[in-house]
Amino acid sequence: MQTNEFIAHFDSYVMGTYNRLPLVLVRGEGARVWDRDGNEYLDFLAGIAVCSLGHCHPRVVDSIQKQAERLNHVSNIFYNEPQAGLAQLLVDNSFADKAFFCNSGAEANEAAIKLARRYAYENKPGQSPEIITMKNSFHGRTLTTVTATGQEKFQVGFEPLPPGFCYVQYDDLADLEGAITEQTCAVMVEPIQGEGGVRVPDSGYLQGLRTICDDHDLLLILDEVQVGVGRTGSLFAYEESGITPDIVTLAKALGNGFPVGAMLATDRVASVFVPGTHASTFGGNPLAMAAGIAVIKSILNDGVLENCRNVGIYFREQLCGLAAKHSIIEEVRGKGLMIGVEISSDGNGIVKSAMKKGLLLNCAGGNVLRFVPPLIITEKDVDEAIQILDEVMGDV
Ligand code: PLP
Repeated sequence: MQTNEFIAHFDSYVMGTYNRLPLVLVRGEGARVWDRDGNEYLDFLAGIAVCSLGHCHPRVVDSIQKQAERLNHVSNIFYNEPQAGLAQLLVDNSFADKAFFCNSGAEANEAAIKLARRYAYENKPGQSPEIITMKNSFHGRTLTTVTATGQEKFQVGFEPLPPGFCYVQYDDLADLEGAITEQTCAVMVEPIQGEGGVRVPDSGYLQGLRTICDDHDLLLILDEVQVGVGRTGSLFAYEESGITPDIVTLAKALGNGFPVGAMLATDRVASVFVPGTHASTFGGNPLAMAAGIAVIKSILNDGVLENCRNVGIYFREQLCGLAAKHSIIEEVRGKGLMIGVEISSDGNGIVKSAMKKGLLLNCAGGNVLRFVPPLIITEKDVDEAIQILDEVMGDV
């Protein structure tokens, strides 16, 4: 089958929920992927911030292979060793006392929303709990997380939406304070908005959120599904602000491609999740946990965070150099290796042209080129990407 025939074949069997690029990827190694025709691409999207250690990282592959030969799955009505292993790694290296495992970012956020509501049920009897989230946010595609998502375009046609959410401006503490009522139980926020266009808030924003939550006895839920697990140059994005949240959600990079989601919380909050309140058949599955253990160990011990910080600075410098040359670039922003380049037109043309020249990236929020490459990329990889972008922008 030719590639165009394969694409038609694929589309005849798989639901059309994506505007897919016409690229059929068959292999990956490090920061590179190959299509079925043998063409090589520099992958600066990494499965959208998923393959942070690079494709098929040997340590992760080895861990999954060994676990696959030993025990793939058991019910959570039994104990399993890898689940304790990943929980301990996450707890020992964070604010949290306990972890709950699931399979995706949306599920981790569902768990966080349920936990916050249950906490209110136990501690604020009679409250009809409401969670404040941010305009332009993204929290997932299940009915509840799409409702938590402060973007109408993801909600249209799926009404009736579950109640219990209201939205305020991101990076605007006054707007948040004005929206708090007797019913408010929690604030849920991304430390950097990802899908909303790589929006980095003011440096005091998380501290301000913490103070407001403390003053009003609200839980602070951080959605670190995209920014967590090393992406900003620290294991968790909240670390750089010096605050401690009550709940953090993770997914994406946690399995480096194996589906793993997690919700972390303090004992005070986690204690309301008693037997029967929440569950997941696959959550904490030994195979997924084996992947997660290898990921966290590698991020903590292999110099990944330092590389992310250093190459992130270099990449942003080079992008600013491009901005001086191409007036289409309006702003370069981000932290670590989560970088957004806002341009003055729709970015999809640039994404397609870059792909044809061997560089993968995507658009967030329409006119923001998003770069979330593996955290192990080198300055040489950045130089290659910059050269392609330079050529593509020169053609615009
Ligand atoms: N939260 C954030 C911040 C995300 O960026 C995403 C996905 O892009 C999600 C939640 C949903 O994660 P998943 O697609 O794994 O359900």
